[in-house]
Amino acid sequence: MNYDVIVVGAGPAGSVAAKLCADKGLKTLLLEMGREPGEKNCSGTTIPLFNLYEDFPWINDPEMPITRNVYSNTHYWVFPDGERWFKTEAVGGVVTPPRAVNVYRDLWDPWLASKAMDAGAELRKSTTVWDVIKEGDAVCGVVTHTGEKIRSGVVIAADGLNSMVSIKAGLRDKRRVDEYGVCVKYDFESTPEHIEVAFNMADGQVANESWYGGTWSSGRTGYCWLFPNYDSISVGLFTLLSDLKENPFVLMQRFLEHPLVKTKLKGAKPRYYSVRNLNSCKNGVDKTCADGIMAVGDAAGFTCVVEGCGIPAALWSGKFAAETAIDAIASGDVSYSGLKAYETKWKNSFIARDMAGSKKTSDWLYKTVGAEGIGLFIQHAIEGWMLKHGWSEGGHDDACRSLMEDFIQSQLPRYLKLYGSLYEEGV
Ligand SMILES: Cc1cc2nc3c(=O)[nH]c(=O)nc-3n(C[C@H](O)[C@H](O)[C@H](O)COP(=O)(O)OP(=O)(O)OC[C@H]3O[C@@H](n4cnc5c(N)ncnc54)[C@H](O)[C@@H]3O)c2cc1C
Repeated sequence: MNYDVIVVGAGPAGSVAAKLCADKGLKTLLLEMGREPGEKNCSGTTIPLFNLYEDFPWINDPEMPITRNVYSNTHYWVFPDGERWFKTEAVGGVVTPPRAVNVYRDLWDPWLASKAMDAGAELRKSTTVWDVIKEGDAVCGVVTHTGEKIRSGVVIAADGLNSMVSIKAGLRDKRRVDEYGVCVKYDFESTPEHIEVAFNMADGQVANESWYGGTWSSGRTGYCWLFPNYDSISVGLFTLLSDLKENPFVLMQRFLEHPLVKTKLKGAKPRYYSVRNLNSCKNGVDKTCADGIMAVGDAAGFTCVVEGCGIPAALWSGKFAAETAIDAIASGDVSYSGLKAYETKWKNSFIARDMAGSKKTSDWLYKTVGAEGIGLFIQHAIEGWMLKHGWSEGGHDDACRSLMEDFIQSQLPRYLKLYGSLYEEGV
C-alpha cells in the first residue's frame, strides 16, 4: 500500500478532506490536475459563512485571501423589457459580523491546499487521474495520466462535477445535459472607493447583488450576479444548459449594457473572462460511497439546485469523508460497511436537507408560480432560510415548508399582484 488515503482534486472538498486525514497522521496524497489548485476553477466567488469558522476554526486565519467581507445581499428584479426594475434587500438587512466572504479561487484554493500540506499531506500538481484500480468490486487506488498506479486504503473522489473517479468507480454515470448549468464570468478592475459607493449598504459595508429577469434571461431560469472584491468586481451569468437558447456571451453583453449595471461598472476595465459548467443535480444525488471509495462535493452532486451554491457542501462533505476514513482505517474495514457512516453523516446534515429542500422548491415553483414568480420566491425562501435557520442547524426542509406556507398564504398573492401591477403600469 502506497498511501492510507488518496484524495483526487484539490478544490475545497479535497483540500479539507486531505488536511483532516493528515491531521490524524494518515499518509495522505492529494492529486490535482491543475498546475496549481484553483487554476481550473472559475474564480471570483462568494462563500456563505454561517458556522464555517466554528466548524473549521483553522479556516478562520488572518492569512485567508479574502477579497471582501460581505454584509448583505441585494436583489434586482428586472422586467422582460429590461427597462423597468425594482430592488429588494435581504430580510433583516445588514448583519454584523459579515454573512459571506468573497474570494478569488486561484488564490483561495492554493491557500486551502497549503493547509493540507502543512498538516503533512503530499500534494502532486499537474497530475490527472484517469482511472481507479479495483480488486473485485473494491477500489484500492488510482491510475494517473502517465499510467502510474498508486494504491491506497481509501480513495476520496473530490474531482468536481464531471468526476471521472466516481464514474470509473461505478458510483454514477456521466451527467445528462439537463443536469448542467453554464456560467460565464467576467472580472473587472475597479477602485475600492468606487466599489464602496456602488455596492454600499451602510458605513462602507458592501452587499453582493443578484439580478433576475431582464433581457439577458430570455424569460428562462438563471440569473446574473455582481460580487464586489477589494479593487475588482466579479460579474457572472448562470443559466441551465437545457434552457440556453442564445450564446451566453450575447446574454452577458445585454446584462452589461443595462443602464444601472453600467453605473455599477463605471470606470471599470475588463481583465479576463472564463466559462464553466455547474452542477444542477435536479435528478437527485448519486451513490456516494462503495468499497474503498467516497465521493464528496460536486463529485457527489452536492450543489443547491436553486442557486448553484456548492462550496459549503464541498467543505462539510470533505470533513465527513475524512472523519469516516480515519475511523474505517483505524478499524481495518474500508469496505462499504466501514465507509457507510459517511452516507449517514451527510444525510443527517444540512447537505441532504439543502438538496431535498432546493429540489422540492424548484419542482414546486415551476408547477405553482411559473417562471415569473420564481425570482420573487427565491429571495424570500433563500434569505428566509439563511437568516431564520442558519445553514447547518434548523434544517432547510422544515424551514422551507414553513416559508412556503407563509409565502402561499400571505406573500404570493401580494407579490403576484405587485408584479402584475408593476408590469402593467410600469415604474
Ligand atoms: C462560475 C461559477 C460560480 C460559482 N459560484 C459559487 C459561489 O459563489 N458560491 C458557492 O458556494 N459555489 C459557487 N459555485 C459552485 C462551486 O464552485 C462548487 O460547488 C465547488 O467548487 C465544489 O467544490 P469541489 O471541491 O467539490 O470541486 P471543485 O472546486 O470543482 O474542485 C475539483 C478539483 O479537482 C480537480 N480535478 C478534476 N478532475 C480531476 C482529475 N481527473 N484528476 C485530478 N484532479 C482533478 C480540478 O482541477 C479541481 O481543482 C460556482 C460555480 C461556478 C462554475
